[in-house]
Amino acid sequence: MRFVYPHYFRDFACTADKCPDTCCAGWQIVIDDDSLEHYEQYVGSFSKRLQKGIDWKQGCFKQDSKKRCSMLNEQNLCDMVLNMGENHLCRTCALYPRHEEEFEGLREWSLAISCPVAAKLVLTCEEPVRFDIEENDDDDPLIEEFDDFDFLLFTELEDAREVLYKIIRNREMPLADRMRRMLYLAKQLQTCVEENRISDMQAICAEADAGASDFQAICAEDDLEEIPDLSDPYERYEFLQENFSVFSKLELMREDWQEVLDAEQDMLAGGSANYAKVRKAFTEAMEQEKWWPIFHENYLMTFIYTYFCGAVYDDWIDTKVLLAVISQLFTEEFIMNLWQKQGSVTQDECVKMAYRYVREVEHSDLNLNAMEEYLHAVLFSPA
Ligand code: SF4
Repeated sequence: MRFVYPHYFRDFACTADKCPDTCCAGWQIVIDDDSLEHYEQYVGSFSKRLQKGIDWKQGCFKQDSKKRCSMLNEQNLCDMVLNMGENHLCRTCALYPRHEEEFEGLREWSLAISCPVAAKLVLTCEEPVRFDIEENDDDDPLIEEFDDFDFLLFTELEDAREVLYKIIRNREMPLADRMRRMLYLAKQLQTCVEENRISDMQAICAEADAGASDFQAICAEDDLEEIPDLSDPYERYEFLQENFSVFSKLELMREDWQEVLDAEQDMLAGGSANYAKVRKAFTEAMEQEKWWPIFHENYLMTFIYTYFCGAVYDDWIDTKVLLAVISQLFTEEFIMNLWQKQGSVTQDECVKMAYRYVREVEHSDLNLNAMEEYLHAVLFSPA
């Protein structure tokens, strides 16, 4: 088995009651079957409280009216840990924010940036992320679940992801151009999959890799026209306006998120000329911040690292890349609205906006699926 970890993975430490936004509220915590069985059989002074705090039908912890987990006390500490010990935590609680993607013979670990502490660690990391690999001789315990695993496609995806990493980090190009290039590459790879030309993916990636600083030269004019030029504020505005409706398809995880969406609604309602003016002033202001480009690169990297190779299961290569790009774009928009309201924005506020966005989009399977389905449906052909 191979295990992959970003280099900062083991630096994470939960701050528990010092956490600015606990993960034990706001969403349903599903309990795995082994833990459910263990909780059912648990005998001890805490067993009554434990039994009462579980929704046995749904297999999750109950929540109070503020969506706080039934085990969370007033001090934002977990009563189950305090009374029973950490080793009794269910899998969800024991792992979070550590996230595992499963592929045959391989597990890729990441830190979910919906956790404020993980978000800060990941998004402010100045050192380019490295991926550490560990191996052992064990067979994959889930081998039977990978009957149809397409190794050929997966290998191509792994290689393509390396090229995407290079594009993301290429500061010779403005970020908007890098994202356009990512979308272009994704579109080419998607066409290969749809036309059953997996073997062509390698040459496309090699070409994208070699043409690192000469984007126009490697792009077919017709294809390029279909991909929005995100450095043009008017095209960017149009693209955002066309896709903002995706948020109305998602369930609201936190009530206060609506304010963020309303601010964006107002910005878009103000028209493209006003948008272009605000965007120009915002871009100029943020150019002064050394951490700003790092924040975006790390944000895009985390989406691509976590989700891109999952296309081996659904063939939605372009959707995975668009998910990263749309997330970056709207998170930046939401930050711009905050900047406009306050007259400035700090690195911590940007990190906060990112983890709030990720909580809304990632922390509900329904939302993530709805987002992916929407992106897949409209991809490059907005209504
Ligand atoms: S969100 Fe992160 S830091 Fe906060 S309580 Fe949860 S795991 Fe700990």
